[in-house]
Amino acid sequence: MLDVLIIGAGPVGLACALECQRKGLSSTIVEKGALVNSIVGYPTNMEFFSTPDLLEIGGYPFPTAHYKPLREDALDYYQRVARSEKLAIRLHETVLSLNGEQGNFTVTTDKGEIPTRNVIVATGFYDLPNPLGVPGEDLPHVSHYYKEPYQHVLQNVVVIGAKNSSAKAALQMTRAGARVTLIVRGPEISNSVKYWIRPDLVNRIAEGRITAHFNTTVTAITPEAVEVLMPDGPRTIPTDFVYALTGYHPDEALLGRLGVEPDPDDEARAPLFDPTTHQTTRPGVFVAGTVCGGRATSRWFIENGRHHAQLIAAHLNGLMR
Ligand SMILES: Cc1cc2nc3c(=O)[nH]c(=O)nc-3n(C[C@H](O)[C@H](O)[C@H](O)COP(=O)(O)OP(=O)(O)OC[C@H]3O[C@@H](n4cnc5c(N)ncnc54)[C@H](O)[C@@H]3O)c2cc1C
Repeated sequence: MLDVLIIGAGPVGLACALECQRKGLSSTIVEKGALVNSIVGYPTNMEFFSTPDLLEIGGYPFPTAHYKPLREDALDYYQRVARSEKLAIRLHETVLSLNGEQGNFTVTTDKGEIPTRNVIVATGFYDLPNPLGVPGEDLPHVSHYYKEPYQHVLQNVVVIGAKNSSAKAALQMTRAGARVTLIVRGPEISNSVKYWIRPDLVNRIAEGRITAHFNTTVTAITPEAVEVLMPDGPRTIPTDFVYALTGYHPDEALLGRLGVEPDPDDEARAPLFDPTTHQTTRPGVFVAGTVCGGRATSRWFIENGRHHAQLIAAHLNGLMR
């Protein structure tokens, strides 16, 4: 029987496996997609906002040619760490539920059952987009994930949302020759957009290269257009493609099946856990990384979430001795 099964091979799941292994605990990661699946899904050549030292796990240096690493650098780094440490990882296997109790759990996946004494949930948030809740959202030319600009050259593209991902996508597509319209619910580009991206976007809007509609909400999407409600009334914006970059949220149904309870006093429905050990109210079940913030997905990220691994490994080590 495993000492610990870790759900999710993101940066934090890898950090947990590594720290547990160093404490002599037997561990396996179960990951429903590829290694560091969320980062695989990020835009091509995306630049991290963190410097490489703040993304490191297990003390492995993260050398990069640039001041800020790109998605591809991070993919290379994390797979090298996983291979160097010979971490046990089962890829393309989805965890469905958890039965039993601490010391004698059974994890059920879509491929079978795995016995384990403890479970670390490091499932992040990137799989479930926040829906707009409007008709037409499921049309094939609507996506919640931006990858790269080239399919949109000389096309009309509507980008919904005005945070970092939308800002970067709008700027990149504009520079590649797409005609971008930004739909913003609030009165301005969010102040949470990074200080080196925001002025670029504000200036492109000011010079008319990007059209932005503020205080505007989307009411429907059709195959040819986005229907919006602006302060002066409804309007139809013709478009070839729509990016609804309105954020993501953790899989609350899965957390429920794992017995991870949300904090009733937290608007973000973050899991209830002991901050000194990261153990949830279900003994033997721990949470690590972004999932700890619930719907507040910027509360924990790689920089601060990677440290959960040492706390959990130290606690488990104490229990096992
Ligand atoms: C565009 C973008 C840029 C970012 N830039 C930065 C940055 O510069 N610096 C920074 O610190 N943070 C950054 N972040 C945030 C950071 O990427 C996340 O916080 C980070 O991925 C969290 O790591 P994690 O291991 O907690 O979760 P994730 O990396 O999301 O890993 C969770 C893993 O769990 C897997 N999983 C989910 N459900 C199951 C299941 N049922 N069974 C098996 N596996 C499952 C998923 O496939 C995934 O691989 C950025 C985020 C985005 C979206």
